[in-house]
Amino acid sequence: MSDYIEIDNLIVFANHGVFSEEKTMGQRFMISLKLYADICVAATTDEISHSINYGEVCEFVTDFTKTHRAKLIEKAAQDIAYALLDKYELLKKVEVQLKKPWAPIGLPLDNVLVNIARSKNIVYIGLGSNMGDKKAYLDFAIDEINKHPRCKVLSVSDYILTKPVGDVVQDDFLNACAKIETVLPPDALLAMLNRIEEQAGRERIVHWGPRTLDLDILLYGDEVIDSEKLTIPHKEMAKRAFVLKPLTQIAPYAYHPVKRKYVCELLEELQ
Ligand code: ATP
Ligand code: CA
Ligand code: CA
Repeated sequence: MSDYIEIDNLIVFANHGVFSEEKTMGQRFMISLKLYADICVAATTDEISHSINYGEVCEFVTDFTKTHRAKLIEKAAQDIAYALLDKYELLKKVEVQLKKPWAPIGLPLDNVLVNIARSKNIVYIGLGSNMGDKKAYLDFAIDEINKHPRCKVLSVSDYILTKPVGDVVQDDFLNACAKIETVLPPDALLAMLNRIEEQAGRERIVHWGPRTLDLDILLYGDEVIDSEKLTIPHKEMAKRAFVLKPLTQIAPYAYHPVKRKYVCELLEELQ
């Protein structure tokens, strides 16, 4: 997605800030936006309804910035990004730059600014349960993910019963995969999934041991991440039939950016 509409230095008088003078008196902020959307149809038909109306965006952002106060410009910028992604279906990614030229730090400077990017992403989640009412735990997880304002569940595979892997003696698993659209960055998505696991009474006692609910991020767009907390694509997914079977059912041509193969090909290699 390389097409974008840019808005440069929209000036808004608003009340973001930590200090009480900032909250009461307000100050000038400058907002720049890069709105990534497929504007090919608009460019061809010359019809505004196929694009994002930048005049309307400016009015919306001005009003939003005045009425949604934050202490930090980091939060103010993220709130603007999420509000725009919510409002415009056509918008796939947005970069928000928020400048605070009057930042009260008592030293001469031109500007303080934050720059954040948020986008709509297709993500595949692996779900598993092997304690208690397994189906109810998977239903609960799907419902909770879908209830989150920044996530939408697009499809869910069948729930399949599978034998546990590893050395721990434990009950069979119920596994599934879900396709979701989310604007949450990967670490925020993981934190959200961990909260749902906790609500389902998940306790981490034995690694790879029995659990009420396990939610793994399998694929996040075509991103490749290898940090201490997060490996994407999920490290083990290419070896696991209990992941690849339900995933192939809902998305045979989801692409594994490290293996450079479709998930249906990975499943075929396992069999
Ligand atoms: P496995 O990851 O092999 O399926 P598990 O799901 O039983 O094992 P957990 O105890 O649920 O493992 O998670 C251990 C850690 O894995 C988590 O704290 C999390 O930070 C990390 N992790 C790394 N990559 C991912 C990912 N893609 N999805 C979920 N958790 C991940
Ligand atoms: Ca897991
Ligand atoms: Ca896990």
